[in-house]
Amino acid sequence: MARTVLKFGGTSVADLDRISHVADIVAARAAKGENLAVIVSAMSGETNKLVGLAKGAAGDAVTGVEFDDEYDVVVASGEQVTSGLLALSLRKRGLKARSWLGWQMKMNTREGHGAARIDGFAEDSGFAEAIDAGEVAVVAGFQGVTEEGRVSTLGRGGSDTTAVAVAAALKAVQCDIYTDVDGVYTTDPRIVPQATRLEKVSYEEMLEMASLGAKVLQTRSVELAMNHQVPVRVLSSFAGPDDYNPGTWICNEDEIVEKQVVNGVTYSRDEAKITLYGMEDKPGTSARLFTLLASAGVNVDMIVQANARGEGRANMVFTCTSGDSEKAERVLEDNRSEVLFDSMGVQRDVAKVSVVGVGMKSHTGVAETMFGALSNKNINIDVISTSEIKISVLIDADYTELAVRALHTAFDLDAT
Ligand code: ADP
Ligand code: ASP
Ligand code: MG
Repeated sequence: MARTVLKFGGTSVADLDRISHVADIVAARAAKGENLAVIVSAMSGETNKLVGLAKGAAGDAVTGVEFDDEYDVVVASGEQVTSGLLALSLRKRGLKARSWLGWQMKMNTREGHGAARIDGFAEDSGFAEAIDAGEVAVVAGFQGVTEEGRVSTLGRGGSDTTAVAVAAALKAVQCDIYTDVDGVYTTDPRIVPQATRLEKVSYEEMLEMASLGAKVLQTRSVELAMNHQVPVRVLSSFAGPDDYNPGTWICNEDEIVEKQVVNGVTYSRDEAKITLYGMEDKPGTSARLFTLLASAGVNVDMIVQANARGEGRANMVFTCTSGDSEKAERVLEDNRSEVLFDSMGVQRDVAKVSVVGVGMKSHTGVAETMFGALSNKNINIDVISTSEIKISVLIDADYTELAVRALHTAFDLDAT
């Protein structure tokens, strides 16, 4: 009895042909004796359409519609469709299969709507028993149920997190994330054709890569996998059931023999830079500013403070997602009397480009190589931030692709 979790993303279930191909893969895995939970996303493009409909119905007057419980009722529906379609397709092949929605599987969530967090699974749903009895459980990803019995969703890309959470709860032997690329690459293969597939990536590196923009896995899913030690593999859903399809394993660092200094280059265009000019420079100012931003739900990323020309004044620069920047602007304008500043500048045409690698812990010279490569291309660095295993820079968004390519080459990651 080997419980295994498989997940298929939006492009992999984009139409009936693709769903039929997925059913072939699932049938082949079931024939090997695996007891399967199969998590599906909505058909590609469907969630965007549903988000547009929900926003349209709520009207411009309603801000923060994504935190409304009815928003989740709408956007979760895409996954209901694909779970039913795949179950039908499996039944057509003679397999025992049924769909499971978030509330039927009793995947309980907290912290509201739109970006809910998973609390756990109630044990009396019959879900594990059905899988052990040899029925393929086709799970609608992305959705759960709140304490009040309402439908919730996990944030964009959340089906990855459903898959890892189900794998952890079932103590599955592995969680295979089937997608439209055949693994995790040194950078987004759609931007750099010379990108190479990594055989293994550590949880730690994958966590940085995901949170810095490599959308191949949702960040929360990697965090969960690391905490619960779920072996995750990313592989292609476009290969046939019997094709060579090794994918990329996300595993512990000590399972990786050959450690690269830099393993990946990532980018994110979903960034905004906010500058507060002439802030009062005395103890407590930063605390007030960031408390205010946190209470407005703004996730602050990079922070730089520098002395301003005037006596007792400083300029504060911080970045957040472009989505959060409107909230930040509003809360700062509304609380000018609390956070004293002369003026505010908001820039949304910026991008964050990062290099990631566990080898950085024990190697020097990474910053030198990175800044040198960017300067050779005449790319100006605006803000810099570092951690033990990454360096990120904020640049003009127009230079994103150029920067990613230059760094990929500079760190010897190009395929030969
Ligand atoms: P799914 O619909 O299966 O969830 P996503 O679109 O969310 O798929 O994620 C897969 C995409 O992630 C790929 O098509 C690729 O363009 C992008 N991507 C970004 N960075 C990377 C990377 N380092 N390795 C692989 N894919 C990446
Ligand atoms: N369908 C959802 C989205 O597009 C969840 C997912 O695909 O993972 O964000
Ligand atoms: Mg995805």
